[in-house]
Amino acid sequence: LVSGISSISQHLHKTNRGETNGVSTKNVTNQEWSISSWRTKPIRQEVLYEDPAGAEIAIARISKLPPIVTPTEIVKLKNSLREVALGNAFLLQGGDCAELFSYCEENAIDSKIKLLLQMSLVLIWGLNKPVVRIARMAGQYAKPRSSPTEMVDGVEMPSFRGDILNGYAPSQRTVDPHRLVSAYFHSATTLNYTRAQLSSGIADLHNPLDWGLGYVRDKDLQVRYQAIVSSITDSLRFMRTIGADTAGQLQTVDLFTSHEGLVLEYEQSLTRRLRHPFNYVPPNAKNASSSDGKGWYNTGAHFVWIGDRTRQIDGAHVEYFRGLENPIGIKVGPSMKDKELVELLNIVNPNKELGKVTLITRYGEEKVEGMLGAHIEAVKGSGHTVVWQCDPMHGNTRSTNTGVKTRHFSSIFNELRSALKIHKQHGSFLGGVHLELTGDAVTECIGGSEGLVEEDLSLNYTTFCDPRLNEKQALELAFLIAGHYRG
Ligand code: PEP
Ligand code: MN
Repeated sequence: LVSGISSISQHLHKTNRGETNGVSTKNVTNQEWSISSWRTKPIRQEVLYEDPAGAEIAIARISKLPPIVTPTEIVKLKNSLREVALGNAFLLQGGDCAELFSYCEENAIDSKIKLLLQMSLVLIWGLNKPVVRIARMAGQYAKPRSSPTEMVDGVEMPSFRGDILNGYAPSQRTVDPHRLVSAYFHSATTLNYTRAQLSSGIADLHNPLDWGLGYVRDKDLQVRYQAIVSSITDSLRFMRTIGADTAGQLQTVDLFTSHEGLVLEYEQSLTRRLRHPFNYVPPNAKNASSSDGKGWYNTGAHFVWIGDRTRQIDGAHVEYFRGLENPIGIKVGPSMKDKELVELLNIVNPNKELGKVTLITRYGEEKVEGMLGAHIEAVKGSGHTVVWQCDPMHGNTRSTNTGVKTRHFSSIFNELRSALKIHKQHGSFLGGVHLELTGDAVTECIGGSEGLVEEDLSLNYTTFCDPRLNEKQALELAFLIAGHYRG
């Protein structure tokens, strides 16, 4: 195994050079999938370990550690996403761009759980549908980068690739394989605390929630938001009074975890052949390979997605993902061709299983009009039914004159509003949103009802990758989506 990674890395390094731009006529589905078949494909965002022996030891260690999530939970999410694909539920996914190991801390976790809960209540109120909640948390430690190096305070150094590989501090930029094991334990600890808090009443709707809308500068807006909150709290009070909570449903909620499946040796080490839940019949059950009642589950998160930089049809990431039982996401940026999108769906979901694939569109406010409609039509024509999720963040990243990465709240909302409209025009519907957010009072995105301006960015700019909505901006986006549906 030790020589495995290094020789494979060298091989991949070579094939990388000859890689096409993501479009291939090869039908990879004809080839046998295995847990390591991705290693024979060209790979983007590859990790070249200076200490390959250390990487082997780390991967071997993780391979022996218990699953972080189980097939029963994973299938439960896939069933929930089936409802989203059919239009009976809405998907809210959010969290940090780059989750740091240091965010594995009670306040940061609590505030993210509470924010996702509050946003989901607003969305339930607005859409009159259940909301499926997925956190970008407990494993979102790997970042794809546009360039292998970056400038920090005028010094060029290897890019920060996320805590799973290297540290943000200039002295920690060398990839350290011990971090792989650390990623496992930080994921497990974050999820353990989340589970403990959920079962101890952090999401107990019998307790009043703190909505604190005092920050909303525009008085009319404040009145509008307050009316929504009053309506939600009145409904909850009414349900409590009449004892509608017989099954304890107001005491806790489901919260699933997700991350970008980027570092494939890490993902592979957590991918296990496990028995399907007893009431789950996978769509490929007739195939000999699944006749033992088992399947390959990525047990590091309930939901994993392929990033916009690693979705090449003939590439390693698509190859790895096509063998999983988990529901998966695919980021769809402006370079995605209609045919390529359909080809991707055929590869990762040949049985057209409902709830299996979430397409996470992220074109940017200017490009969404020119792209989304054609993608919707292409998918329709293919016979696939997907969850259409809008990520209004990643196509709208801008740099200020002083080089600070930011996003305008209005651009984010514009892309979202366009997506809602375009889906409607095409007889489709938006199934969910994918947001970068934090429960803390950061100043990373401009705008919103608190009126943050460019000069405010330096007040509390703490992200180590992309700018996140703060808790007020995130909640406001939920109000705006709810308002869109309620009129
Ligand atoms: C991200 O979600 O942080 C990300 C890198 O997105 P994308 O792959 O869409 O660029
Ligand atoms: Mn990001």
